[in-house]
Amino acid sequence: MKRKQEAHSAVGIDLGTTYSCVAVWQEEHSRVEIIHNDQGNRTTPSFVAFTENQRLIGDAAKNQASANPQNTVFDVKRLIGRKFSDPTVQDDILLWPFKVVSGVDDRPMIIVKYKDQEKQLYAEEVSSMVLTKMREIAEKYLESPVKNAVVTVPAYFNDAQRKATIDAGVIAGLNVMRVMNEPTAAAIAYGLDKRTGCVGERNILVFDLGGGTFDVSILSIKDSVFQVKATAGNTHLGGEDFDNRMVNYFVQEFKRKNKVDISGNSGALTRLRKNKGEISGKYSKALRRLRTVCERAKRSLSFLLTATIEIDSLFQGIDFSSSINRAKFEEMNMDLFNECMKIVESCLMDAKMDKSMIDDVVLVGGSSRIPKVQQLLQDFFNGKELCMSINPDEAVAYGAAVQAALLSQDVKNVPKLVLQDVTPLSLGISIVGDIMSVVIPRNTRIPVKNTQQYFTVEDNQSYSLIKIYEGERTRASDNSWLGSFTLSGHTPAPRGHTYDVCFSIDENGILTVSATESSTGKTSKITITNHRDRLSSEEIKKLIQEAEDYQLEDKKFLRNAKALNDLDDYIYKMRNALKKKDINLKLSSQEIETIKSTVAVITKLVDENNQEVEIDVMEDHLNGLKITMEDILPKTI
Ligand code: AMP
Repeated sequence: MKRKQEAHSAVGIDLGTTYSCVAVWQEEHSRVEIIHNDQGNRTTPSFVAFTENQRLIGDAAKNQASANPQNTVFDVKRLIGRKFSDPTVQDDILLWPFKVVSGVDDRPMIIVKYKDQEKQLYAEEVSSMVLTKMREIAEKYLESPVKNAVVTVPAYFNDAQRKATIDAGVIAGLNVMRVMNEPTAAAIAYGLDKRTGCVGERNILVFDLGGGTFDVSILSIKDSVFQVKATAGNTHLGGEDFDNRMVNYFVQEFKRKNKVDISGNSGALTRLRKNKGEISGKYSKALRRLRTVCERAKRSLSFLLTATIEIDSLFQGIDFSSSINRAKFEEMNMDLFNECMKIVESCLMDAKMDKSMIDDVVLVGGSSRIPKVQQLLQDFFNGKELCMSINPDEAVAYGAAVQAALLSQDVKNVPKLVLQDVTPLSLGISIVGDIMSVVIPRNTRIPVKNTQQYFTVEDNQSYSLIKIYEGERTRASDNSWLGSFTLSGHTPAPRGHTYDVCFSIDENGILTVSATESSTGKTSKITITNHRDRLSSEEIKKLIQEAEDYQLEDKKFLRNAKALNDLDDYIYKMRNALKKKDINLKLSSQEIETIKSTVAVITKLVDENNQEVEIDVMEDHLNGLKITMEDILPKTI
């Protein structure tokens, strides 16, 4: 049921790799509502497409993906906050039909053609378009503007990926109140669902296997306190990888049967790497079509033992039909499924828990529906029933909406919850010999502030360079570098002079580092906001302007399409009128001529579907028509 909410409701957005979902807390009923989109779907594909005359987002973009593969962008969550040279990016590029090149500072740039012009897009920009769509879906439902949102990210997202997600929110005109870990959000959905009749502390393990990422979190829930004990994951493991395996399997089969390689012949992979992801149209279209049917087949293998695939004229006019059974699908993905189980084990170790201590295993994410995954998990937990009571596609948005309501002062009737999350990766600085000195170990509860003392290594050292890293490797430079700053003006002293380095992480998992010289109290500080992986404030400003331009163009396109449609409708009526037998009795020959010539002019305009004609001109035509026909048309009825 639709109802008008107070202005500026806060919403929860699950910005997924393949699908996104938006939810709102309903004060009136004290529950969360998952908001359906204009197609009536409760999740929206995270797809953005560009055509000769318009930009499409969500279902409309996904639906035309096979026909326009090179300009239909998806999976950007796999790019966000990463460098172009990242091996995972390089692997993904080979399978994407759209082009990605290396931009300034090794940033991946997505290349599309829009209105016959080449456009370069940042991953943040594409994500912001999906977020804008989700905001609009919410605004339509709530009949009021939406500014504040909680946006979820995989628990295992690093600092750069989190910040890039916040930037995407800013470009979409949102105030991201909090970036929240996806499994924690799902745990809230589960915990709220189960809270009645629950006594004492329960340990739950959230197994979140989505389209592109995998997260495991172990939480303890006691009364209203949700405490994350440990989190582990892989930001590059999910349903898309299973799809890729199936695509490769059928590419080989097609090659065997027809002696043609639809991935672009034998040297394709090396050649594609050299060409930085450039892939020719015919290959990309065939691959895109194959991928779509593979994803569908994969889904049906969760319920059936065999799935068939059939594609007319897949490549060079050759039809392709084949089938795959569940056992084969499981075999080709077994190493990935086992990888998931290893991550579950390591999360238990981090939480210092034995598997027998887990009360509930909660499944989240579309790929958790795969029977083999469920079986492996159930076997691992010695036959324990898995909890499938919450909707795996909606649980994350549900929890995010509760968090959004909790953070909004003006929303009432929200359950009083206390969330205690952890930081997924260790944070520290590089010390002599490129050693990683950890200041905040992974899985430390956030918000947190830790201080450690360090020493100068030379006599009369006048400054210290603080290099900040994130990761689990002992050699600092093997981890990911977050930023550096200098603490200058040390008092001249023999080596061993002390200074303190303080790391603090806020509720979003965002880090601030400061250093203080012990003897003088002189301090230097850095909030890791503008290291080179991140967009500068000027770039963000520019992108916000561009986002507004896109919105205006989209609106203009719709207005144009509506005007064309109205004209078409009018012409249809006039043509029908002319067909009437007694028309000559009712109208003068001059009136008939007027209708005929008007029909001819407008038909040409409509048939050419002429988006170039200014809307005002089109609307003038329509108004002119209405005036001319005002007297004539009633006579034809
Ligand atoms: P999410 O990111 O949670 O929206 O998950 C999307 C992923 O779940 C996509 O890769 C889907 O192909 C996959 N998925 C959805 N339903 C099923 C299913 N029934 N069986 C296997 N995978 C599924």
